[in-house]
Amino acid sequence: MSDPALGSSTDRAVDSSDRPDAPPREDFPNLAAEFKGRPIVYLDNAATTFKPRTVIEAVTRHYSSQTANVHRGVHHLSEQATAAYEGAREKVRAFIGADETAEIVFTRGSTESINMVARSYGQRFLRPGDEILISGMEHHSNIVPWQMLCEEKGCVLRVIPINDRGEIIWEEFERLLTEKVKLLSVVYISNSLGTVNPVRKMIQAARAMNIPVLVDAAQAVNHRPVNVRDLDCDFLVFSGHKLFGPTGVGVLYGKRALLEEMPPVYGGGDMILSVSFEQTTYNALPYKFEAGTPHIAGVIGLGAAIDYLNGLSWDWITAYERDLLAYGTRRLTEIDGVRLIGTAKEKAAVLSFVVEGIHPHDLGTLLNEESVAVRTGHHCTQPVMKHFGVPATARASLAFYNTRQDLDRLVEAIEKAKDVFR
Ligand code: PMP
Repeated sequence: MSDPALGSSTDRAVDSSDRPDAPPREDFPNLAAEFKGRPIVYLDNAATTFKPRTVIEAVTRHYSSQTANVHRGVHHLSEQATAAYEGAREKVRAFIGADETAEIVFTRGSTESINMVARSYGQRFLRPGDEILISGMEHHSNIVPWQMLCEEKGCVLRVIPINDRGEIIWEEFERLLTEKVKLLSVVYISNSLGTVNPVRKMIQAARAMNIPVLVDAAQAVNHRPVNVRDLDCDFLVFSGHKLFGPTGVGVLYGKRALLEEMPPVYGGGDMILSVSFEQTTYNALPYKFEAGTPHIAGVIGLGAAIDYLNGLSWDWITAYERDLLAYGTRRLTEIDGVRLIGTAKEKAAVLSFVVEGIHPHDLGTLLNEESVAVRTGHHCTQPVMKHFGVPATARASLAFYNTRQDLDRLVEAIEKAKDVFR
C-alpha cells in the first residue's frame, strides 16, 4: 500500500519503509511544486530549506491579524507581538542550550552575524599583528569580513589547510594555533563539501590557550542538535532560512561576558536607554545589538520552525539522513565519470560532485530539464574549488524530507545528461 505521506504521483509513490517516523510530506507545501509536469526533486537545501506549513501560518498570522511593532506600545497588538517575538528568543535559547536570552541576538542571518562580530569584537579587541584563524573550507561570509577587518586593523588572516578528502589537517591546526591567534572562526559543517569539523575538539584546544571561538553553524543546526554549552563556543551563528524558517532572519549567540564588553554595531531606536545630543547610553543585552525595527514576522516564523523541529526526533533525523547520504554516495559513485568532491569521514548529507566531460552549469541545466533541482557553482567557497582544481561542482544537499527516490531521480537525470554529451 502506498503511504499517503509520500504523495500519490508515480514519482513519489515509494515504499515508505525507508521513512518510518517521517513527518507527512504535506507538512511542506512546497514539496508539491512541479516543473514540466513532474514533481520537483528539491536537492538544494544547503542554499535554503522548504518551510513547514506551521511556519507559513505563523508568519501569515502576524501579518493578517497580529501586526504591530515590538517593545513600543502598551496596546494589545504590540504587547502580543512583543510576547511572540520574545517568546521566539526563548525558543532559540532553549534550542541551542544558551544560558540566557540576553545571549541571543536576532540578525538578518549568518552573514550579518559574522560581520557584527568582526566589526564589534574586532574593533574592541584586535590589534595590529593579531591573527584570526579560519579553515580552508569557509563560506565567503566567514572569510571576507575577516579580510576587511585585517585590512582595517593590520591583523593577519591564517588558514588551516584541508586534505583531499576535505577535512582540516589537525597537525596544521595545532601548528597554527599559537598565542598570536586572537580569534578562531570555523565552520561546523561545510556547505560545499558536507564535512563535519571536529569543532568541539578545536574549541577545547583554543580554550586551553584562551582563544575565543566563533562557530558558523549555518549548515549544522538543520542536521544535528547543536548545544552552545556543550560546545563551549564563544559565538555561534546561523540563519533562519536554512532551518526551515523564513529568510531575512538569523541568530548571533555570544557569551554574555563578551557581548557586554563589545560595542554596538548599529545605532538607532531600541538599542538605547537614553539619548541626548550630548550623550547616549546603550540598552541592555541583547537589545544593544538590535537597532531599529527587527524582522518581527521572521523571528516569529523562526520560533515556529523550532517548534516544528522540536516535534521531530534528532535521533530519527540523523539516522535517516545518514542512510540517505550513504545511499546517495553509493548511487553516485556507481556512475561512470562521477567524482565526488568532499569525502570526509564525518559528513553531513551533502553530495558535491563533477561529471567528466560536462561543465557543472550544463549539468545543472540538464538536471533542471528533468525537474531535479541542484545547485551548481562555487557555492560561495571559491578557495575550496581551487583546492580541488575544479571551477565549480554540482551539489545535491539533502533534508529529512528527501527520499531515496529523490536520489534515484538525480541518478537517472545524470545518466540522461551523460547521454546528451556522449
Ligand atoms: N555559512 C555557511 C556555511 C553557509 O552555508 C551560508 C549560506 N550558504 C552562510 C554562512 C551564509 O548564510 P546567509 O546567506 O544565510 O547569511
